[in-house]
Amino acid sequence: MIIYIEKQAINYPQTQKIIEKFKNSSIIYIDNYKNIFDKDYTNLDSKKALIIAKLNSNSVSEAPAWYGHTKSAYFLKTSLNCVFDCDYCYLKWAFKNENMVIFVNYEDIKNELIEKIKTLPKDVENWFYSGDYSDIIWMDSFSNFSSEFIQFFEQFYNIKMEIRTKSANIKPLLDLWFIPKNTEIAFSLNPQSLIEKYEKWTSSLDSRIEAINKLLSLWFKVWIRFLPLLPVKNYEEIYRDFVEYVNSKINMCDINSTFASWLLYTKKDYNKILSKYKDLDILHMLELDNDWFYRESKKVRDTFYTMFKKLDNKCILCLEY
Ligand code: SF4
Repeated sequence: MIIYIEKQAINYPQTQKIIEKFKNSSIIYIDNYKNIFDKDYTNLDSKKALIIAKLNSNSVSEAPAWYGHTKSAYFLKTSLNCVFDCDYCYLKWAFKNENMVIFVNYEDIKNELIEKIKTLPKDVENWFYSGDYSDIIWMDSFSNFSSEFIQFFEQFYNIKMEIRTKSANIKPLLDLWFIPKNTEIAFSLNPQSLIEKYEKWTSSLDSRIEAINKLLSLWFKVWIRFLPLLPVKNYEEIYRDFVEYVNSKINMCDINSTFASWLLYTKKDYNKILSKYKDLDILHMLELDNDWFYRESKKVRDTFYTMFKKLDNKCILCLEY
C-alpha cells in the first residue's frame, strides 16, 4: 500500500501509530493532501492509497433538518472515503478518486467540538453523526477513532454520537474499558443477496448480526438502520424473507431504535451518478418527484413502510413518507 503523508501531519502521534501499523508500506511525503485527493486518477496503485493529513477546515457541519431524529444534528468529519464499494454510495461522485484520507489532528478536532457544544441547547439531545464520510468502524484498527472520540463524548450532557457502519469489526469497541452512554453504534442492514450484489466488500449480514448481538449482550446501545432499501426485482419477497430472518436472529426489543430509508437523490446528484454508472439497475427503478428528488415509487415505499412498521412499530421512516 502507498501512504501519502502531508508534511504538516508528520509529527502527530496518530501518524506515527499508522506508520508503525503499516510497516511495509511505501511512504511518500506531500505538501497538501488535495494534490492527491483532488485529482482524477485512473492509476490503480493510487486507488489503494491512504492519505494522512491535517484538517485545516471545520470538522463539524450542520446536518439537514430531516436527517436524524432531532433537529440539532451535525456531521463530524475525521476521514474521507471508504474502503467498501457500495454501488449507490454518494462518495462515488462526491470525491474525485477513491483514496482514503484520515485527518490526524485529533486535539484540534476535539477543541472545535468543545466550542460547538458550548453553543448547543442543554435541554434537548444534540447529535453528532460520525459515519457519513467513511466507515469509521472499519478504519478503527488504524485510526483509533473509538478510543479517542467515544471517551471524549462521555463528558457531555445531552450530547450524543452515532457511528454508522457496515463493518463487523467491533474489536475496538470491545477493547474499550467502559460501556459508552453517549455513543450508539448503528448497523446498516440489507438482505445478504443484495449485500453481495450492491455493497461489495462490506461484512456479511450474519457477521453484522453477530456483532449486534455481541454488543447488545454487553449493554451497548445499538441501532439498526435498514438503508437504503433497494427497489430490486422481487423486492417484496426478498425483503419479506429478510425481515423474518432479522426478527428471528435479533431480539428487536433490545434495539435502541430502528431507522428505514429508501434511495433518495437530488436531480443533480442522480444525473451525476447515472452518467458514471449507466448500467446500475436500481437507478432506473427511481422516479423524479415534484420536489426534484429521485426516489422509489409510492407503491414500493408503501410496501417497505408496512413491512418495517410491522417489524418494529417505533421504526422511524427517514426523510419522508
Ligand atoms: S459503507 Fe457507507 S460510506 Fe462506505 S461505500 Fe458503503 S455506503 Fe459508502
